Amino acid sequence: MAKSDYYEILGVSKSADEREIKKAYKRLAMKFHPDRNPGNAEAEAKFKEVKEAYEILTDEQKRAAYDQYGHAAFEQGGMGGGGFGGGGFGGGGADFGDIFGDVFGDIFGGGRRQRAARGSDLRYTMELTLEEAVRGVTKEIRIPTLQECEKCDGSGAKAGSKPHTCSTCQGAGQVQMRQGFFAVQQPCPTCQGRGTVIKDPCNACHGHGRVEKSKTLSVKIPAGVDTGDRIRLSGEGEAGEQGAPSGDLYVQVSVKKHAIFEREESNLYCEVPVNFAMAALGGEIEVPTLDGRVKLKIPAETQTGKLFRMRGKGVKSVRGGAVGDLLCRVVVETPVKLNEKQKQLLQELGESLGGPAGDTNSPRSKSFFDGVKKFFDDLTR
Ligand SMILES: [Zn+2]
Ligand SMILES: [Zn+2]
Repeated sequence: MAKSDYYEILGVSKSADEREIKKAYKRLAMKFHPDRNPGNAEAEAKFKEVKEAYEILTDEQKRAAYDQYGHAAFEQGGMGGGGFGGGGFGGGGADFGDIFGDVFGDIFGGGRRQRAARGSDLRYTMELTLEEAVRGVTKEIRIPTLQECEKCDGSGAKAGSKPHTCSTCQGAGQVQMRQGFFAVQQPCPTCQGRGTVIKDPCNACHGHGRVEKSKTLSVKIPAGVDTGDRIRLSGEGEAGEQGAPSGDLYVQVSVKKHAIFEREESNLYCEVPVNFAMAALGGEIEVPTLDGRVKLKIPAETQTGKLFRMRGKGVKSVRGGAVGDLLCRVVVETPVKLNEKQKQLLQELGESLGGPAGDTNSPRSKSFFDGVKKFFDDLTR
């Protein structure tokens, strides 16, 4: 049966201090006390659960073990005198130990002790402008994290004292358990696999060897990154417990929307409006690139939506490869707020386009309206 979380049972947060835990315990113990609920088996079970949670969470070492391993910290170790038939501790399992010890040692690897107490990895999302992502940038970030306690240098032991070698496992961090013919290696229940026991815990970090702090880091973002890329800063995550290795920090890149450019892999796209005199007659316009303005020749009779490719004006991906292109999409802009003279000129132009030469001037209109005519002709046939 799955056990409920001790913190949930007491209704306190994982960072609750002893006072909060005591308060929660008092309240719940009063509520479920057998004297107040005679004959109520459910209340009695609740009461036991609350008591157990309280006992574990108010014992510094047990709480640390629970935070790290969950209920497994107490189920495996034979603290409750379970099914492991005693004898497994100490030298009792020596005959099988050599064989099984080697086998399990290979499977779990020698790093088991360290892995258990290694600090957590952290993730940080960094917003960049397109320019920063394309050119690369160095940015300072502030991250809240657990850092090695300065008072005890991460050992968790009070100044002047030292963690003692665990007497249960002789510092190995592992003990052998025997059940019938099987001997298995388990993290030591006394020291939770660390190999050392703190008798006199540091009062700054309560024996954890870590304290909460925020730190400032300078992060170098390489040129060419894009949304979804991440940069791993080895060892910049949370500090490990009692001097164990720190986790890593992952900086996740998120590129902000740009006012002009849109990026797709190593190409950039932008929309450039031109008036229809220019589109019809051709000419030269200035278009933006990330390195400044460049001239773009618009040929006569350019239609709206046409893409012009400017080679090498895109982006070079952080993964290498060639520099991409800039693709400018020309959009013909219909003029607004015309004065009388302009209106008159357009009127004349319109009439001439609608005249006998209209079909030649507007081939797309012609083929469209020919198609429409055929459609209705077919319908009425
Ligand atoms: Zn031990
Ligand atoms: Zn400390």
